[in-house]
Amino acid sequence: MLILLSDAFDPGLPGKLKKFGEVTDDKSRVAEAEVVLIRSKTKVTKEYIDGAPNLKLVIRGGVGLDNVDLAYAKEKGITVHNTAAASSIAVAELAFTLMIATTNHVVIADKSMREGKWIKKELKRTELYQKTLGIIGMGRIGTELAKRAIAFGMKVVAYDPYVKASDFAEMKPDMKDVFKVSDYVSLHLPLTDETRGIINAKTLKDFKDGAYLINTGRGKTIIEEDVIEALKSGKLKAFGNDVWYSDPPEQNPFIDAPNVTMIPHLGASTNENLLRIGDIIEELITDYVK
Ligand code: NAD
Repeated sequence: MLILLSDAFDPGLPGKLKKFGEVTDDKSRVAEAEVVLIRSKTKVTKEYIDGAPNLKLVIRGGVGLDNVDLAYAKEKGITVHNTAAASSIAVAELAFTLMIATTNHVVIADKSMREGKWIKKELKRTELYQKTLGIIGMGRIGTELAKRAIAFGMKVVAYDPYVKASDFAEMKPDMKDVFKVSDYVSLHLPLTDETRGIINAKTLKDFKDGAYLINTGRGKTIIEEDVIEALKSGKLKAFGNDVWYSDPPEQNPFIDAPNVTMIPHLGASTNENLLRIGDIIEELITDYVK
């Protein structure tokens, strides 16, 4: 059996998988591969699948499966798994980092010091304590974020049409009800027909004036131009972003936008998460060869 590591994984992973067969990161051997391991970079499209006649198992190290043509894989009898639970803490910690960084002007303060400026009077910080965090998408990551926000003394509300109750947030029946009361809104949505562009000029009107928006879910759940307009008008005080229309963004519209803190899709990129992903991959291949 040939296992192809098509994206970047923990350096110890090939050693762990050797017991199952040959392991390679040579992408030109995709036609021979029975198992392909991907993260977000490799796109398992119809063309990719047609070029991999021996493929039986695709494992996505991470959560989102929007880079896999699931319907075509099914048609071809290819099993697709993700490692859904592995990344929750890594992403929740990054969402929290962005809340802290934006509200404390960490990037602007650092940059000003490097430029020899002392803008102490201009930079007024805000506390998270007793503020309201609104979570859109109360799944694994949203829940981990809620636990951390509670530890900071925040009130947590959430909207998720598929989650009726949570021990860590007051669930609201309508997204509007979350936007209206939230000082911080954090997005933890998969990209679906329902969530594409869900944050747009119309929905931004329901936000509190001067709210903070954080996105570590999927880039295309926001309309970038509408978020930029909201930043310019002051409707949004700041935007912390980890996820993009493409990795890297072809033309990053946020470069000249005010109060944006940008991260190059590092949500899942912790050493601990890569180790956890490796362990889950080993378990999934063990089940596959049984
Ligand atoms: P999850 O499936 O546990 O949670 C997603 C939640 O979104 C679910 O509870 C679902 O019911 C809810 N949802 C679906 N449609 C909705 C809608 N229209 N409105 C409100 N809620 C809706 O997934 P998770 O593990 O929490 O991950 C969430 C997302 O985070 C993933 O789908 C992925 O896109 C993203 N992610 C990003 C990174 C990163 O590197 N930044 C890493 C991992 C995952």
